[in-house]
Amino acid sequence: MLEIKDLHVSVDGKEILKGVSLTVNKGEIHAIMGPNGSGKSTLSYVIAGRDGYEVTGGSITFEGQDLLALEPEERSRAGVFLAFQYPLEVAGVGTVTFLRTAYNAHRKHRGEPELDPMQFTKLLREKAKGLGIETDMLKRSVNVGFSGGEKKRNEALQMAILEPTFAVLDETDSGLDIDALKVVAESVNRLRSPERAALVITHYQRLLSHIIPDHVHVLADGRIVRSGGKELALELEEKGYANVVPDGAVPV
Ligand code: ADP
Ligand code: MG
Ligand code: MG
Repeated sequence: MLEIKDLHVSVDGKEILKGVSLTVNKGEIHAIMGPNGSGKSTLSYVIAGRDGYEVTGGSITFEGQDLLALEPEERSRAGVFLAFQYPLEVAGVGTVTFLRTAYNAHRKHRGEPELDPMQFTKLLREKAKGLGIETDMLKRSVNVGFSGGEKKRNEALQMAILEPTFAVLDETDSGLDIDALKVVAESVNRLRSPERAALVITHYQRLLSHIIPDHVHVLADGRIVRSGGKELALELEEKGYANVVPDGAVPV
């Protein structure tokens, strides 16, 4: 589904990713772990197509298409979703309207009729209920005054609605409360299917006890220095990065 080959990425002329290769097949969940500053978020932004990340070498292919040639919106419509990408606050835009607009844009792209506000609200309530999200939150403007946990719940709901083929989750801050963490995990687990895949980026093992990955990779200093199964996450948690990856792979 997703094939990254020898990807090199620079930000402001500084090389951050130094030859990353990764193949994610349909039905698989891969986790990327790694010390702070290793390039985890950079990788997620490059997949989503954020500005300012210069690809200086290598390729990303998504379902046979050159992903890097697509605009961010095209990537989204092709089924790629980056959670926690937009921590921005959108005053005056209701959460429901925001979600409906995103959802209908995808339906329109697939040639399906848009849902009217009533139909959409019904769908939204079902999805929110399934994830245990309070619908009170939906009455507020997008992310305005939302706590970190509420923003993540909102993203989880967006993901449940859009049902992306390939979801990338970047657990950017570690301050996620356990309930929000479970909602995020549940939203990924519900999408698990032989036709979909996900990349879960996290600094800690915590999220991975709720989302069981098929493969775990350690990113250090812009390179994948070790790959393994779900047990690798536990080993990392127990021993720390420096003791698990090859000598010299984690800069001190
Ligand atoms: P991680 O998510 O693994 O903590 P990041 O991808 O955020 O790592 O960052 C990797 C490296 O790139 C860090 O050294 C960071 O300082 C640098 N970096 C990230 N974004 C920028 C930027 N916009 N400008 C300059 N350096 C950046
Ligand atoms: Mg190289
Ligand atoms: Mg990060």
